[in-house]
Amino acid sequence: MATAPVLTRLLSSCISCANSAGGIIRNILRGGNLGVVMKGFDDPQTEADRQAQRCITTSLSRKFPNITIIGEEDISSQVTDESDAVVVTEETNEVLQMTCPQKYEKIEERQIVVWVDPLDGTKEFTEGFVTHVTVLIGISIEGEAVAGIIHQPFCDDPAQGSGRTIWGMVGLGVYGHVPITLPRTTNAGFCVAITRSHFNELVQGAVDAVNPDHILREGGAGNKYLKVIEKHADAYLYPTKGTKKWDTCAGEAILKALGGTTTDCVGKPIQYLPSQSVHNLSGVLATLQGHQQLLDKIPQEIKARLPQ
Ligand code: AMP
Ligand code: MG
Ligand code: MG
Repeated sequence: MATAPVLTRLLSSCISCANSAGGIIRNILRGGNLGVVMKGFDDPQTEADRQAQRCITTSLSRKFPNITIIGEEDISSQVTDESDAVVVTEETNEVLQMTCPQKYEKIEERQIVVWVDPLDGTKEFTEGFVTHVTVLIGISIEGEAVAGIIHQPFCDDPAQGSGRTIWGMVGLGVYGHVPITLPRTTNAGFCVAITRSHFNELVQGAVDAVNPDHILREGGAGNKYLKVIEKHADAYLYPTKGTKKWDTCAGEAILKALGGTTTDCVGKPIQYLPSQSVHNLSGVLATLQGHQQLLDKIPQEIKARLPQ
């Protein structure tokens, strides 16, 4: 059998890495020593963030040496001996058996950038809101989010004891999620998902203007993308700086594979280029439908305070 295209093999490995990172995160929580250090105001890092990133980046760079990998955590100053990193060699066969969309068949490693948030929602993780935590691996080509994985290590559903993984590729579809054809059972009316721990006056102003029937205030960008992907919320709204490309790439790709849209809060696409800043300085707006109408409701005074 011919070898699968690079993008399919990469996605398959990324899913296995995200699952292993979830196991690392659960083990560290169980062990009880989180090893918290502060990277900045309201910006903690734990041993779980460090070890999960080491697992993902070491595993991927060994298999795909010519791909650019950009991870949230700066772990370069730590032990350079990789021998104690968990190295994932498994593939996810389900993905390898799928037909890669034609436009990605010939993509080469050097054209790909992988964005890794080894533990999204660290603040919530340290405060016990573990269902808000996700492992995010996003794949971009020429600045565009094209595939992604959101792994949730701790679920509300006890049947999913070892977490759950949602993944997708533009042109291929989304797998592992609750079918979005299910009727929404909670949060009736128009619902927005907003930050729990980085709330400010810009968020307040946009929420007031959008005037939702229901507000889901939870941690993590990956978690809020899941709310939109699974139709528990109509939008993820964050009209201020703070998120980075690794927070949005995976969710954007999965949402796009379902026909949804992500832009910043002035309406520009988010570009995933390693030559540009990692910061989403103009915020994030993610929806499955009705994107422009919602964008139009964000007041001009708020947009004027974001880089255009
Ligand atoms: P949140 O929605 O506040 O849970 O944030 C989603 C992601 O963006 C998390 O990875 C946060 O750490 C990051 N983030 C958002 N706002 C900020 C901020 N003001 N400072 C640091 N990180 C932020
Ligand atoms: Mg994050
Ligand atoms: Mg993180």
